[in-house]
Amino acid sequence: MEPYTKKLVRAASDWFNHPDTYCRKCNAKNSAAFLAPVFVEGIDARTGQKHPTGVGTHICLDCATKQNWIDARTGNLRPGVTL
Ligand SMILES: [Zn+2]
Repeated sequence: MEPYTKKLVRAASDWFNHPDTYCRKCNAKNSAAFLAPVFVEGIDARTGQKHPTGVGTHICLDCATKQNWIDARTGNLRPGVTL
């Protein structure tokens, strides 16, 4: 069984090694809150081309809100909205 501290260090390392991800609407980088992430290891999701670390995409919460995709009452996507 691994010491607890070792697991924490690995988790932090995984977080910092997370590939960059960009909003599909506004190109914001690494948004803190986002929907519909797309990531394929070794692929730039923006272009579909190979990439050393991979690059992901998402829809940032600001864009989802501006598009009126979020139901303010429930905090969920409005019915019929697919990302
Ligand atoms: Zn955005």
